Amino acid sequence: MTVPYTLGLHPIADSTYAYLQPNGSWGWSNAGLIVCGEEGLLVDTLFTVPQTRDMVDAVARALPHVTIGTVVNSHGDGDHWWGNQVLAGAAIIASDAAATAMRRDRLHQQLAAPGPAELPQVVVEMLKTFDFGGITPTYPTRTFTGELEVPVGGRTVRLIEVGPAHTVGDVLVHVPDAAVLFTGDILFVGGHPVLHSGPIAGWIAACDLILGLDAETIVPGHGPVVGKPEVRRFRDYLQRVRDHATRAHGEGQPVLRAAQQMNLDGFTDLADPERLLLNVGAVYRELNGDGTPDELELMGRLDQYTQPSAH
Ligand SMILES: [Zn+2]
Repeated sequence: MTVPYTLGLHPIADSTYAYLQPNGSWGWSNAGLIVCGEEGLLVDTLFTVPQTRDMVDAVARALPHVTIGTVVNSHGDGDHWWGNQVLAGAAIIASDAAATAMRRDRLHQQLAAPGPAELPQVVVEMLKTFDFGGITPTYPTRTFTGELEVPVGGRTVRLIEVGPAHTVGDVLVHVPDAAVLFTGDILFVGGHPVLHSGPIAGWIAACDLILGLDAETIVPGHGPVVGKPEVRRFRDYLQRVRDHATRAHGEGQPVLRAAQQMNLDGFTDLADPERLLLNVGAVYRELNGDGTPDELELMGRLDQYTQPSAH
């Protein structure tokens, strides 16, 4: 089934839906919905309260008989859970590690308070686009490690923890009876990903795990609905980053230069190339083992990245 990449709720299999938010760049994340009878399980809320309200309204219009009784947060980045309060009353499930990260997250307070001058430029830009007012952090009511099966009416949804990878607590949401997988930010389509926590080997292993699952329809955290070929391509990207950054680190190259010199053949169509600075930086951080280079500091330098001319 080809799913159009347009804003809104799209059927992707029997009683299974994706809520898509083009263009998939910073803060424009996807969500999912699994339905059985009157019961619904929502995969992720959105960056802001208004975005999440729009999504819940779209579900109510298309499926007026459905009550969302369960929410799964795929990980602890704000664009996947800051809208949780709109679903207050539902059971909210996340991995232990993601829930801990959520409770430590103070970014939404910084965004709501005046004086964002000290925030990285990329975050200041997000402030112009998104309305972060009125966020009351609403945390998971149930956490797990490893795997968890969650019933939705007579259906079963499998949660598979694959973090630390993109973040410390990443979870895949597999719907075996529909051969559907919601990856959270373990898959980015159409743009460069962001490697927050690493290790990058954990992320590559998560791609291998996905390739072994019974999943024909794959909803990424950002970007259009795809199939396994895009996962293979994404795995190749991560390996390219790992190999290049490891070599550059060994040669003592500064991180910005290393990011700019990576060979992007086969990936020049991807948006947000400045994220390479974060990704190469994350591999450096892993190799340094002392917390450097700091992620927030790198975020403040994204505008220094210039895409190399084709060679
Ligand atoms: Zn995201």
